Amino acid sequence: MKPFSYDASPSRIAFGQGMIDTIAEEVRRLGRSRVMVLASRRLDAVAAAVTESLGDMAVVRFDGAVMHTPIEVTTAALRLAENHHVDTVVAIGGGSATGLSKALALRAGFDQIVVPTTYAGSEVTPVLGETENGRKTTRSSPHIRPETVIYDVDLTLDLPLDTTVTSAVNAMAHAVEALYSTESNPITDLMAIEAISGIARALPIIVDDPKNLEGRAELLQAAWLAGTCLGTVGMGLHHKLCHTLGGSFGLPHAPTHTVVLPHAMAFNAPAVPDVMSRIATALGASDAATGVFDLVTACGGPTTLRELGMSHDQIENAVELATSAAYPNPREITPPGLSELLENAWSGRRPA
Ligand code: NAD
Repeated sequence: MKPFSYDASPSRIAFGQGMIDTIAEEVRRLGRSRVMVLASRRLDAVAAAVTESLGDMAVVRFDGAVMHTPIEVTTAALRLAENHHVDTVVAIGGGSATGLSKALALRAGFDQIVVPTTYAGSEVTPVLGETENGRKTTRSSPHIRPETVIYDVDLTLDLPLDTTVTSAVNAMAHAVEALYSTESNPITDLMAIEAISGIARALPIIVDDPKNLEGRAELLQAAWLAGTCLGTVGMGLHHKLCHTLGGSFGLPHAPTHTVVLPHAMAFNAPAVPDVMSRIATALGASDAATGVFDLVTACGGPTTLRELGMSHDQIENAVELATSAAYPNPREITPPGLSELLENAWSGRRPA
């Protein structure tokens, strides 16, 4: 028997089609009235529709969110929000927009309504990663977690296929590591297995037919479940390694998760055979690590760190950085073990 504790997420979740029409109502539900709309230029049309539906409550728009939440961007957005007496942020976009929303909420106490358009899952976690002078640090606080999350499947229909695949595998990583987390519990286990099978089912459908509504809905729902796992239990080697590769070498977030996940799973497999067998069943594959690798390959996702811009001589430095502090993981992390994992991920070798 494994003892556990479980804290349910207090966020309000609304899921469906055409959900952006409900944003004004959600702002009023929070008792707020002065909104900053955060959305990149790429989402101009959606931002315009939301701004119109908010009417007088939309007081300012900011379009400068970028990956890894740099402090300079947060400072500029915060100044703008304070000048307009903002009390709520409506963030529409991927993990980058959500990250900026969280950074603002943490500093100024704004309420947050997040409308995710990727599968990153940040919207349901109390975690914020920020970069300052090239260093990425992470903190966790209940004040960081958004009050309301609105999943609107329509907004994901145009997400480019390459981003769809890598972002979905980013979600898969949250579910995989939740299953072997030292804090795992029966509820996150259920969510994680459901997320893995949902992603494995939906992704090939979307690759064939990117605007398939049922496939998109299943993937978005799986991403919510996987993100909830990420927000509930601690992660292991895979997340630590991707954090290092993203923060220290500038590798792109979701593609890095996509390349590393099968190799992190193959590394951990001997320590958690039962978990890997449950994951393989959820994937409909004979082996968990190769099942993920083959899914990525079939969906045209990246399989090598080399193609993401990492040079071979950075492997040694990455091993040093990723082994510099202890963290929970089912299998002991040694420099030779990690070095082999990274060699395999760099060259894209299919896990055995
Ligand atoms: P992202 O938000 O940068 O989006 C990736 C790309 O997709 C961008 O170019 C964006 O403009 C584009 N895009 C997003 N939605 C689109 C749409 N509907 N149509 C067309 N293009 C669209 O990337 P991401 O992978 O979603 O998020 C990565 C960031 O999130 C990183 O900074 C990462 O650290 C953070 N993150 C944090 C957590 C957490 O819990 N704190 C969890 C996951 C990710």
